[in-house]
Amino acid sequence: MKAKPALVLAAIISLLLVRSIEAQDLGPQIKKFKDGIYVYVGKELNSNCGIVLTQEGVILIDSGHNPTDSRAILAAVKKLTSLPIRFLIDTEPHPDHTTGHFVFSPPAVVIAHEGATESMKNRERESPDRIQKLAAVSPEMRAALEGYRFVAPQIEYRQKTTLNMGERTFELMYLKGVHSEADTAIWLPKERVLFSASAAVVNQYNILRPIVTIPDILAALKMMKGLNPEFVIPGHGTPGTVKIFEDTERYYDLLIDRVGKMAREGKSLDEIKKELRMPEYDSWASKDRIPSNIEAAYKVVKSK
Ligand SMILES: [Zn+2]
Repeated sequence: MKAKPALVLAAIISLLLVRSIEAQDLGPQIKKFKDGIYVYVGKELNSNCGIVLTQEGVILIDSGHNPTDSRAILAAVKKLTSLPIRFLIDTEPHPDHTTGHFVFSPPAVVIAHEGATESMKNRERESPDRIQKLAAVSPEMRAALEGYRFVAPQIEYRQKTTLNMGERTFELMYLKGVHSEADTAIWLPKERVLFSASAAVVNQYNILRPIVTIPDILAALKMMKGLNPEFVIPGHGTPGTVKIFEDTERYYDLLIDRVGKMAREGKSLDEIKKELRMPEYDSWASKDRIPSNIEAAYKVVKSK
């Protein structure tokens, strides 16, 4: 059978259109990982946002670091598909992942782990002028915040849930004690893409709040490595592979080792904080978080 020239031409044009949309029009922040799976990679370690297309609509994972990012994400989604954003899954409740919810919901329904709403509401209460301050950053930020409303998750799940959307399956898994009160990893088993939340970050010290423990982080990394993902998309930092987890494991092992040695020499926590050096990680960002890392390692050492 011979194809009609007009059809061939139409096919070529549509191919070229798809190619050109992917190459330029989505902007430098958007990277493609698989067919229909994109990540808006945050600038300078700002939070990442997953964009997953399905036959029945779009699933977003987090809503961008700032509302200016959320607006750019929405513009990119509109270029990719005319289908609506059906769900927005939160990897964590912190503002650098959730302030932009109002840009997408409605129509998107926001899903998070139990505890996310409470965490978000507490933060709103603690800093009632947060949005005003953010608007003062730049005229672009003020414009992006137009119509701001506080949007909490409409659905909270417990431990594990599955979202089936079109041809895709999203497995949501609670990560206990890795970063916030409600951390979620999102696993696409067929595509082998894992959104790993902020259990591990890239080239950066993570903030270890009192609810976070290093054994919990290591257990979460082991579980996620066991899924055998092809791509790992962390909450912050350049997406990659399970090497992200391995680098983080190596760092905590070394940290615990050094803190342990100093503790056995009779040094106090304060002395360790003053004296401990990790020259191997001098290039990592957010050095102000090192004391929280040492405290968490000290807890591990003292519990042994
Ligand atoms: Zn966070």
